[in-house]
Amino acid sequence: MNKRLYRRNIKEKREIGVLHKKKRERFSVALVYPNLYHVGMSNLGFQIVYDLLNKRDDVLAERFFLPYEEEPLRSIESQSCLSSFDLIAFSISFENDYINILKILKLGEVPLLAEQRQSIYPLVIGGGVSVFLNPEPLSLFFDLFLLGEAEQNLDNVIDLLIDSYERFSSKSDLLLFIAKNEPSVYVPSFYKTEYNKDGTISSFYPIQKGIKEKVLIAKKFPLEDVAYSKIISSETEFSDRVVIEMARGCGRSCRFCAAGYIYRPPRYHDFETLTEAIQKALNKKGYVGLLSASIADVPSIDKILAFICEKGGKFSISSIRADAVNLRFLDYMKKAGQRQVTIAPEAGSERLRKVINKHLSEDKIINAVQLIAKKELSLKLYFILGLPTEEWEDVEEILRLIKLIKHCAVKEGAPKGRIIGIRVNVSCFVPKPFTPFQWVHMEEVDELKKKQKWLSKMIGKEGGIRVSFDVPKWAYVQTLLSLGDRRVAHMLLLAHKFNGNWKKAFKYSEFNPDFFVYREKEASELLPWDFMESGINKEYLYKEYKKALSCEESEICTTSPACKKCGVCKFLSL
Ligand code: SF4
Repeated sequence: MNKRLYRRNIKEKREIGVLHKKKRERFSVALVYPNLYHVGMSNLGFQIVYDLLNKRDDVLAERFFLPYEEEPLRSIESQSCLSSFDLIAFSISFENDYINILKILKLGEVPLLAEQRQSIYPLVIGGGVSVFLNPEPLSLFFDLFLLGEAEQNLDNVIDLLIDSYERFSSKSDLLLFIAKNEPSVYVPSFYKTEYNKDGTISSFYPIQKGIKEKVLIAKKFPLEDVAYSKIISSETEFSDRVVIEMARGCGRSCRFCAAGYIYRPPRYHDFETLTEAIQKALNKKGYVGLLSASIADVPSIDKILAFICEKGGKFSISSIRADAVNLRFLDYMKKAGQRQVTIAPEAGSERLRKVINKHLSEDKIINAVQLIAKKELSLKLYFILGLPTEEWEDVEEILRLIKLIKHCAVKEGAPKGRIIGIRVNVSCFVPKPFTPFQWVHMEEVDELKKKQKWLSKMIGKEGGIRVSFDVPKWAYVQTLLSLGDRRVAHMLLLAHKFNGNWKKAFKYSEFNPDFFVYREKEASELLPWDFMESGINKEYLYKEYKKALSCEESEICTTSPACKKCGVCKFLSL
C-alpha cells in the first residue's frame, strides 16, 4: 500500500480526542497494542497508558498496532518507524496476542531477543494484566517488565529513564539502576531459574547484586481519577460511546477469575466522583459504556443509572449478576437503549457453581430470566466447559438449564406473542495464576471437543437458540502461555518462526507443552509467578482450592477494613 492510501485509511478511522505533539526534545514512546487497531482502541487499559504518557510535557507517545496485511508498520500519529522511538512499550492484556508481539518487533526491524539488542535504545518494555499474572513466557523478548497498575508505577519509571538518559554506557547498568529504584520493575535477565529432574522449578533467584527476590505488583490505592476512554474512534467496538471504568476489581471471589484476585482489593469511586465523570462523558457523546466486572456491586448503581436516564443519556453494561436483576434495573436499561441482558451462570449444576464459588442458585437464575422476558429484552448466557471436577453430568446440566431457561422465557413471552431471543456462549476453562485454580490442569482438547459437539447438537434440537463455542486448541495455547515458565518462550519463538503454526512449533520444541497444560501441580511446587508479590497469600489460595474440591463455598470479599482473609489489605496496610 502506498503512503497516501495508508494515511487516508488512518484519517478514515476518524478519531476524536487525540493529542498531536511534536517530537522536539521529548522522550519518545512507541506505545504498542499487539493486535489490530479496532481491538487495541477498544481496550481501556491501553487508552489509560496512552493518556498517562501524553499528559506529561516531557513525553511524546504514539500508537502502534498490528498492521492489516497490506499496511506498513507505522505509528498512527506521525507514521514514524518503530525503532525511531526511545522506548517501545507493549500493553498486553491477552495471552493469545503474544505471537503478535514477535511479529511487530520483526516488522519494526527490532531484534526479537533482548540479548541481541546491544544498544540501549530503543528499550523494549512490557506491561498489562497478562504480564503481571505471569511474564515468564515472554521473558526472552523484553528488557524489562513493569508489573501492576500503570497509574502507580509508570510515572516513576519514565522519570528514571529521563533522568538517566545518556548517563549509562551499557544497557545492563541502566536496567540495574531502574530495577533498584522501582519495586515493580522486573528485569528477566537478572534472574536465574533452576529445575528439578522432573521438570518442575527448583529455584528462582536474582543473579545481580542488589536486585530484590520479590517484585511487587503495583496497585493504585485509592483510585483517584475515574478512567475513561479519551479517544473515540469510529473503528472500535465502542465507536459511539465513552467507556468509563466504574470500579476496579471485583469482590465476588469466583475461583476461576483472575481479575477477582489480581485486582484486590476491589476499589470503588463515590457517587459524586462517578456522576461528575459521567456528566463530562455525556456532554461529549451522550452515550456511556459502564465498565465493571460486577456492575451491580458499584455503590449507588441504581442512583447512577437514574442520573444517566434523567440527563437523557444512554448507557450500556456488558453483563449483570443474575441475582441482582430486578425490574427497576431492567427499566433503566430499556430506557437507556439496551436491548440485551447478559447473565453468566457459568455452570449448569448447583454443585459446580459451588465449586467455582459463584453464590448463585438456580432459582435466582430463573427469576432473572423471567424478569428479562417480562421486559421483552433478549438474553445472552455465558457458560464455561472443562471447569475443575466437571463430570459428564455437569455438561448435561448445562443443557437442562438452557432448556429450562428457554421454557421460562417462552412461558413469560407467549401471552404477549413475543418470544425473546436467546444466545449462549460457551468458553473453555483456562486456569490462571494467582487464583485458587492455579494448581489445576486444563481439560483435554479432545474431551472438550466431544462435549462441545454434544452440546451443539442438543441445543440445536431446541431451536431458537444461537450458540457459540471457544476453539479448544486456542484455549490450549492460552493455558500454555498462562501457566508456562521461561522455557515456553522458546516455543513461542518457534511458533513465530513457523508463522503461527503451533502444531509445528510443538513438534520441534525440546519441551513438551502438555507438561504445562495438562499437569496437576503439588501444593509445594514453586510456581513460575511466585517471585511476584501481589499481596495474596498462597496458603489462602490453596485453602480455597481445597474448598472448591469439596464443593464448599466461601464468603465473598467485602472489603471490610478489619479483614485479613486473603492478605491483600494487610499487605497494603489498609
Ligand atoms: S483481605 Fe479481605 S477485604 Fe481485603 S482484599 Fe482480601 S478478602 Fe477482600
